[in-house]
Amino acid sequence: MPDKTDVAIIGGGLSGLVAAFEATKRGRKVVLIDQEGPQSLGGQAFWSLGGLFMIDTPEQRRMGIRDSRALAEQGWLGSAGFDRAEDAMPQAWASAYLDFAAGPMRTYLQEIGMRWFPVVGWAERGGGAADGHGNSVPRFHITWGTGEGIIAPFVQLAREAEATGQLQFAFRHRVTELVATDGRITGVHGEVLAEDEAVRGASTTREVTGSFEIEAENVIVASGGIGGDHNKVRALWPTDRLGPAPDRMVAGVPDYVDGQMQEIAKAAGADAINEDRMWHYCEGVQNWNPIWPNHGIRILPGPSSIWFDAQGNRMEAPCLPGFDTLSTLRRILSTGHSHSWFILTQKIIEKEFALSGSEQNPDLTSGKWSAVLKERLGKGVTRAVEAFKDNGADFVVAQTLDALVDEMNRLTPNTPLDPTHLHAQIAARDAQLNNPFAKDAQIIAIRQARAYRGDKLIRTAKPHAILDPENGPLIAVRLNILTRKSLGGLHTDLEARALRSDGSVLEGLLAAGEVAGFGGGGYHGYNALEGTFLGGCVFSGLKAGQSA
Ligand SMILES: Cc1cc2nc3c(=O)[nH]c(=O)nc-3n(C[C@H](O)[C@H](O)[C@H](O)COP(=O)(O)OP(=O)(O)OC[C@H]3O[C@@H](n4cnc5c(N)ncnc54)[C@H](O)[C@@H]3O)c2cc1C
Repeated sequence: MPDKTDVAIIGGGLSGLVAAFEATKRGRKVVLIDQEGPQSLGGQAFWSLGGLFMIDTPEQRRMGIRDSRALAEQGWLGSAGFDRAEDAMPQAWASAYLDFAAGPMRTYLQEIGMRWFPVVGWAERGGGAADGHGNSVPRFHITWGTGEGIIAPFVQLAREAEATGQLQFAFRHRVTELVATDGRITGVHGEVLAEDEAVRGASTTREVTGSFEIEAENVIVASGGIGGDHNKVRALWPTDRLGPAPDRMVAGVPDYVDGQMQEIAKAAGADAINEDRMWHYCEGVQNWNPIWPNHGIRILPGPSSIWFDAQGNRMEAPCLPGFDTLSTLRRILSTGHSHSWFILTQKIIEKEFALSGSEQNPDLTSGKWSAVLKERLGKGVTRAVEAFKDNGADFVVAQTLDALVDEMNRLTPNTPLDPTHLHAQIAARDAQLNNPFAKDAQIIAIRQARAYRGDKLIRTAKPHAILDPENGPLIAVRLNILTRKSLGGLHTDLEARALRSDGSVLEGLLAAGEVAGFGGGGYHGYNALEGTFLGGCVFSGLKAGQSA
């Protein structure tokens, strides 16, 4: 590794890779530093579903969706609820991202080889108000190849820059300090870690074999969020808004998403804002085949499973599958317990269950139409879902509701459920199907979802009675809180330059991706619209690489 470079980038995730591409394009010499080995290049994005928030695309238009920047902005601002003085930069970043997502984003990514699955997903439908939280139209563009499809073009570009000597990788180098000279960040100092052959995503040794220092004109922090460190998540947990932090959580990210670099940047004078804003999911299941410690997988549910809290009370709208993540999280925790339950039928699991993550969607990850058609349009559930149904610790299958509840109570003996109470609520819901109109908000939502061609085709089962044995067997899934994203982070201006707490620029330091709250220190505000995390990594990485 050289002892001097133009730009040192800390983190080889998506935002670091995009920043490297943009900086090398401008002729800057780059050193890309990561505490993990080359096998983990790409960071979290590799594991992602590759969903991107884009506006008014050909994919949307082909599905009959009429979208616009103005409609997306209404949804974004209604979701964000910006209400703090320090939200000025985050809000400016949100506006700039909306311009990007409605403008050059798709072409920028298409030109380096990305393509998208033609059925646009409708994530995070919101709380029911036109100007409140949520996406009023589908905007979640799944990249062909999922997470691999997102990082492969940028990895390829980085390898090409490496071949010409424009970029150098420093794997297994962990930054422990930002070096400052006369108030400017002028380099980084850190530890060299022992080589480790662990598979991508698995824990690696923190054994130190040496130290390093590199001088740089500019340093870009692109080190990800805090979701892998549950102690940090609990310490920053917004108890006032969500209730007490759950006593039990599963990890939706590898353990290198440790948030250490954020503390190091703060120690060097950078300001972090909105650290109490975070985005964790309610539909986590323990991975029966874990890669990282306490590995959880998120179910991406269609709208039909009935959702009960830990005490067996059906949750009310907007706490419906796929509608309003944080309202549902608050509702679950209000019981004093951290788990909840889906009850569904075989027909629902077949049509509606998808799992988040590249490795859980080998058909989409393969980028082959033949594989997708076989998995998604064929009979039965996908093989990944079948494996969870057979082996997952949180899944229970039975022919009758009584037998199902017996099994559920075996899983959670401290919060036993009353089968009579569950039966009454499900029967009341089923009775709502006898007319083409109904008063049950979830039944209305299911019918409304099927008005969108994409949902009707692959995401929403035809409404049917849960208690009719013809539709069985019955399935119950215990859902855990799954940690994922930090919405707040390092405060940056629109050029991705880190700011001090007095608002002045901390010269020499820039930040991109999740560590910067995906732009500005939290461009989502309180709530996200999905696909905006990878999208924000691309946009803020681009800005940082252009500025450094
Ligand atoms: C399973 C899964 C599914 C997801 N699906 C989606 C989706 O469909 N759509 C979406 O928008 N988002 C999704 N996300 C979120 C998205 O992938 C992440 O928010 C994003 O990839 C974060 O990228 P990043 O570059 O900011 O950080 P990371 O990918 O976390 O990379 C940071 C890198 O920095 C390194 N690092 C950290 N500290 C140091 C240090 N001190 N010294 C050296 N190196 C360091 C780490 O080793 C790591 O490689 C998903 C995430 C997961 C895990």
